Amino acid sequence: MKQRRPLIAGNWKMNGSLVTNAVLLSELQSGIKNLSASAADCDVAVCVPAPYLAQVQVALQTSSIAWGAQDVSAQAGGAYTGEMSVSMLKDFSCAYAIVGHSERRVYHAESDALVAEKTLRLLEAGITPIVCVGETLQERKAGLTEATVARQLNAVLSVLDAAALAKIVVAYEPVWAIGTGITATPEMAQQVHAFLRSQLALMNAELAEQVQILYGGSMKPDNAVALLAMKDIDGGLIGGAALKSIDFLGIIAAAI
Ligand code: PEP
Repeated sequence: MKQRRPLIAGNWKMNGSLVTNAVLLSELQSGIKNLSASAADCDVAVCVPAPYLAQVQVALQTSSIAWGAQDVSAQAGGAYTGEMSVSMLKDFSCAYAIVGHSERRVYHAESDALVAEKTLRLLEAGITPIVCVGETLQERKAGLTEATVARQLNAVLSVLDAAALAKIVVAYEPVWAIGTGITATPEMAQQVHAFLRSQLALMNAELAEQVQILYGGSMKPDNAVALLAMKDIDGGLIGGAALKSIDFLGIIAAAI
């Protein structure tokens, strides 16, 4: 067994409906029961669009699948139209929230500092942040992969105290691999994961060993086994393949 529990987290993005969600959630629950007993050794979560948090809470409350949001406001509350606060996520018993997804960084101009603030709010509320980092193709070609992910991660680490390190999840998501069908090779991904862990270790070497670092970017059942076999790849943040129970369950099976 690996040193850290694997986490397979689905990012539904802006997909789903009450009807299709109900089918997917029911298939996931029965599918997980049919996986081997070691399914209990894997953390599983779905991060859903905010309007469906109530549905997911009701559907999953007696299951082993956790749920969460795809973003949160850095503000506690007030005149911030369209935003949702950590206390609202708490109302729906969210265990996780994604922050700093590249689609938020690109389409909503989220800065490293804002992502750090959001991470802090989540930790204060006892919700596990899934902090996304990753380089664009241009940055990779320019040899800037490590510099980019270090900048993104260190912005978050700079607002945390060392003890909080064990309470975050990091997701390495090369932007060029998200939704493109192109996956980083296991070796490429492992290299960045090991680098990210070395950055975490600068803060606290012992706690850095406990942090789950997920890979995200076109992970599918057929490439998951090789990716998840890598020493520092502790799970996946899954976009497209989280929308089909057969694919999501296949990735969970690869993790156990
Ligand atoms: C994501 O958006 O977090 C992601 C990894 O997407 P996909 O699996 O579709 O590449």
